Amino acid sequence: MPADASLLARVERIVNATPAHDIHTHLYDPSFGSLLLWGIDELLVYHYLVSEAFRHFRMPYESFWNAGKPTQAEWIWDALFVRHSPISESCRGVVTVLNALGIDPRKGDLASLRGWFAGQDPAAYVDRVLGLANVASVCMTNSPFDDEERPGWETGFVRDPRFVAALRIDPLLLAWPSAVKRLQAWGYRVTGERNSANASEVRRFLADWTRRIDARYCMVSLPDDFAFPAESDAAWLIEHAVLPHGREHGQAFALMMGVKRAVNPALRLAGDGVGRSNLGALQHLCAANPDNRFLATCLSRENQHELVVLARKFRNLHPFGCWWFTNTPQFIAEITSMRLELLGTSFTPQHSDARVLDQLVYKWNHSRGILARCLADRHADLAASGWTSTDAEIARDARELLGGAFATFLGRE
Ligand SMILES: [Zn+2]
Repeated sequence: MPADASLLARVERIVNATPAHDIHTHLYDPSFGSLLLWGIDELLVYHYLVSEAFRHFRMPYESFWNAGKPTQAEWIWDALFVRHSPISESCRGVVTVLNALGIDPRKGDLASLRGWFAGQDPAAYVDRVLGLANVASVCMTNSPFDDEERPGWETGFVRDPRFVAALRIDPLLLAWPSAVKRLQAWGYRVTGERNSANASEVRRFLADWTRRIDARYCMVSLPDDFAFPAESDAAWLIEHAVLPHGREHGQAFALMMGVKRAVNPALRLAGDGVGRSNLGALQHLCAANPDNRFLATCLSRENQHELVVLARKFRNLHPFGCWWFTNTPQFIAEITSMRLELLGTSFTPQHSDARVLDQLVYKWNHSRGILARCLADRHADLAASGWTSTDAEIARDARELLGGAFATFLGRE
């Protein structure tokens, strides 16, 4: 039942006061300099907004991509904020960010917004954003295959303890023949054949990078047609390298399932779509590998119920997040309520997936509001059944849902 106003206010106060551990983002430790994106232009050229702006643009795709970032930002601002109301979730996010920073987005123009951001000190701005979002830690997405990022890790730097690492291995699993050449260049004796010598060299590569970045988990984003078991490089590598590595290092493997890459290649990063995954693959992984831990999130709304039921069957599976196309108020509320009703607090309802630092503010502000409502409704139902929850109990729930259950699952409490 919907919680009454006073219960809702209590739960909102508690959820807002509980720091979140953001378990998946595309942000970087500030030591990476320009790789950590922030500011109004980056907010506007976010790929979510690019695809929405192209609903209105009449220009050829290439004209947009050939323009510089400032021009792209101006076009998007004009299309989505000036000529139309910014009511989509991603547009509203920009409004939430500006408002939280004390800027009235309706006063002034893009030039004055840019002036405000240009006056910020980057280090102080990181502190301010993390404070406004009430985020205690940010998990990055770290790819050894990224030529801009890898040199930073190889050289080494003083880590900001708020930015923790996750090892992303999409090119290894999804483009094995080209990954072989890269691994060879880095000194790993791989040939591309599916044999035990190659598996052990891939394990050495995973172990080296796990140690180098102190990876909390290993991750891959998978297409909707991913199958396991299967006669594919990905299935072979998972079975013979990733899972043995996970067991040896006590490291969880995260699967982000259901992305259809380059549905419209002309949109570049904004051109990916969604497909319904076969969760039989995840079921097989969980059942056949009880000593491995799996984190999973699904991009398709149609997979959400099945994922929650799988998590009831397999304690080595931890559902997380409302990802990308499911990161809208309607779907977050639906998915979070379903998970609370079927799993209690043993999952992680949200991660920000932020690509731009400032997005932490809106993603957590919006998600916390919905999480508080869903949680308050559960406690209202509980009260109606004869169990009145204390503030301390609700605070325990909030801690579990905002990172505590995740840390317990990873064994890093
Ligand atoms: Zn992501």
